[in-house]
Amino acid sequence: MKIDLTPVLNRRVPVIDFEFTLSPSDVPDAPDISEEITLTEDICVSGKISDKDGYMLLCCTVSVEYETVCDRCLTALKDFAEFEFVRYVTVSSKALEGIDEDEMLTVKEGGIDFDRDIIEELSLELPVYHLCDEDCPGLCSVCGKRLDSDCSCKKEKEIDPRMETFKKLLENMKK
Ligand SMILES: [Zn+2]
Ligand SMILES: [Zn+2]
Repeated sequence: MKIDLTPVLNRRVPVIDFEFTLSPSDVPDAPDISEEITLTEDICVSGKISDKDGYMLLCCTVSVEYETVCDRCLTALKDFAEFEFVRYVTVSSKALEGIDEDEMLTVKEGGIDFDRDIIEELSLELPVYHLCDEDCPGLCSVCGKRLDSDCSCKKEKEIDPRMETFKKLLENMKK
């Protein structure tokens, strides 16, 4: 969404507040969000752009609800992410000293559109690992069902590999 900055540029107001929603499909050439994540609602975007005498500072808060699966047992789960990012907004494309180009936005026709930045930040900020529960036991390697509930395989006592080595050592000593 394009935000009109002329009130700040004309020094009529020092700050512009904004709030809108956005869908990745609204953004042409948007960077891909992880295939395992499905956004369940539009992305909520809010923040402000303040005049900093010589440049403007965009502070943006992004929140999103999504569905994904547990990385251990593949159960579907819902999660929520919220993060902030900043951009330095300038009128000329001349770089601000000490500021990375990726953190800059240039005013075009009196405003800025940073939808692409929002999707880009989102693709970086969404967690890559999800668990339905911190103690999720994962799936049974025999039947493929969840270990604590659906699996009824007889649990064989696994031998600790260190014990195995120890046992071998003992056997060798006997020889
Ligand atoms: Zn799980
Ligand atoms: Zn099983």
